[in-house]
Amino acid sequence: MSSLWRRPVTIELLRNLHDLAPDQLRATLGAIVSPPFRVKQIEEWMHGRGAGSFDVMSNIPKDVRADLAARFTLAFPHVVERTEPAPDGTQKYLFSLADGNRIESVYMPMGERTSICLSSQAGCAVGCTFCVTGFFGAGRNLMPSEMLGQFFVVRNEKQIPTESMNVVFMGMGEPLLNFENLVTTLDVLYMNIAPKRITVSTSGIIPGLQELAKLERRPNLAVSINAPDRKRREEIMPITTKYPLDELMAELRRFPLEKGRDITIEYVLLAGYNDSPADARALAKLIRGFQSKVNAIPFNEDVNLPSWMKRPSEAAIDRFVDTLVDAGVRVTVRRSKGRDIAAACGQLRGKTEAKSRATGGRIVAGRR
Ligand code: SF4
Repeated sequence: MSSLWRRPVTIELLRNLHDLAPDQLRATLGAIVSPPFRVKQIEEWMHGRGAGSFDVMSNIPKDVRADLAARFTLAFPHVVERTEPAPDGTQKYLFSLADGNRIESVYMPMGERTSICLSSQAGCAVGCTFCVTGFFGAGRNLMPSEMLGQFFVVRNEKQIPTESMNVVFMGMGEPLLNFENLVTTLDVLYMNIAPKRITVSTSGIIPGLQELAKLERRPNLAVSINAPDRKRREEIMPITTKYPLDELMAELRRFPLEKGRDITIEYVLLAGYNDSPADARALAKLIRGFQSKVNAIPFNEDVNLPSWMKRPSEAAIDRFVDTLVDAGVRVTVRRSKGRDIAAACGQLRGKTEAKSRATGGRIVAGRR
């Protein structure tokens, strides 16, 4: 036999049980674990306490844990960087995935409630021109274990009481382009948090909205609009040539809304581009016909984004908001939550990418 011959090495990756929908998990565990109450105990460890390993399951016999660990994993993404908390407490987490991809999550204390912003993809193919994630381009879909991992790791580290939590899918990626994994993730999150406390933010992927509309339990919906007319929206959000503004608005008018819920209209304010009182009036007209509120987001400047894109002055932001209010629109302004720690999703990964490029390293990038 030639000494050059090598037996091929097969690496078998263990299945992550956090990737399974609740009913699949029950069936999988039920086939190998007995008595049935043990299955319930393991589910509680996973979906209630957010266990990232079998070792912590102190009320499960050692031999059962060893058997499970030989067949499956519960691994979550691991934290590689936490920014210093901003004065308002906002803190960003950079996670590393098993394949070396990096994603971001943001912890945002807001008075009595706390929000966690999650990523749904390791990059984004949508390519919004005002977004660092879009700048660095497409990345793969995150598995449920990778979305749930962000949630459980941050919640457990910060010891956030579940009843005071909101979750927003507003980090890196377009959640409606990762629909199946998103639904599995939501089904587990609903065991901890009511659907009305969870928001899925989209750039307006119409087929995904239609699928979301069919779900029995739906999260809140936020839609990134950013310009009151088709021409400018297509300039800054190229994907909208595929899903035009008029078709999107028709879809939003049909979207089933539970009593008391609104569709959030996200609007990134760019100085001199979409921030005039006339733009505010046009936006108010555009969103007539369904329950909505506008979240105005003053642009966060970043070295990776076009230099013409600037944050409007406080006076221009106030004028825009006042015009909307005068037109009968409910508005909130996201005023620089953690602006100084690059809270807009993708900027932390963007920073590490920029550093890495400068040093010839391999770290890859992200923001809605
Ligand atoms: S804003 Fe959202 S949809 Fe647009 S490129 Fe960024 S992550 Fe993707």
